[in-house]
Amino acid sequence: MTEAVIRVAGLGKSYETAAGLFPALKGVDLAIYPGEYIAIMGPSGSGKSTFMNLLGCLDTPSSGDYFLAGENVARMETDALARLRNRTLGFVFQGFNLLPRMSLQDNVALPLVYAGVDKHTRRERARELLDKVGLGKYAESLPNRISGGQQQRVAIARALVNKPRLILADEPTGNLDSHTSEEIMRLFGELNAEGITIVLVTHEADIAAHCKRQVRFRDGQLVSDLLTEAAV
Ligand code: ADP
Repeated sequence: MTEAVIRVAGLGKSYETAAGLFPALKGVDLAIYPGEYIAIMGPSGSGKSTFMNLLGCLDTPSSGDYFLAGENVARMETDALARLRNRTLGFVFQGFNLLPRMSLQDNVALPLVYAGVDKHTRRERARELLDKVGLGKYAESLPNRISGGQQQRVAIARALVNKPRLILADEPTGNLDSHTSEEIMRLFGELNAEGITIVLVTHEADIAAHCKRQVRFRDGQLVSDLLTEAAV
């Protein structure tokens, strides 16, 4: 059987608050396989961001196990975990998170700087990805010269630059109008068709309808896990 890209078992996270420990995630089991396109849904406060932060290794669980590309994340040293994270995961955020004083090309190339890739290769690879998302001609522009939808395309190009197996996207259309959201979802659909696994948080049903599988959280628990019509 194919190995899961992500496997969590009994995953729990409690936050310390003035009122005591607050259990935001209560023992979640989930496996995500290569090529999946999955929406994480649920009302505000249900634990979606907490779950995504754990999947992105941005936070550590209070209980349970997390295997990323077969590796037990809890047992890894910080450097090894950073390397695994850089080569396995690409991140896309609601607010695009581009650096305002850097050209689009330099924004896209930034993860390659951390990966120790030489300047020439960085530039070529960034250009290639800007072309892929249809923005090659703006390579030298600053982020404030393009629209929000275009900025999100640049952020997706940046997420792809290390050739990750998996993209984690947290409300990627949350700041976009519905037409632009559809365009971004079409781009995710194309990337998934090329074999990239995508995990996307959304609370909008029409956005989640683009995904092939939908899991739903409520009060820190996974309450449903369904394939959609897009899966057939
Ligand atoms: P969602 O993304 O579905 O809106 P979150 O994962 O952000 O949900 O939050 C789940 C619950 O955990 C909420 O009740 C929230 O108030 C609480 N929570 C999130 N982060 C913290 C934190 N750092 N400290 C205390 N409570 C938190």
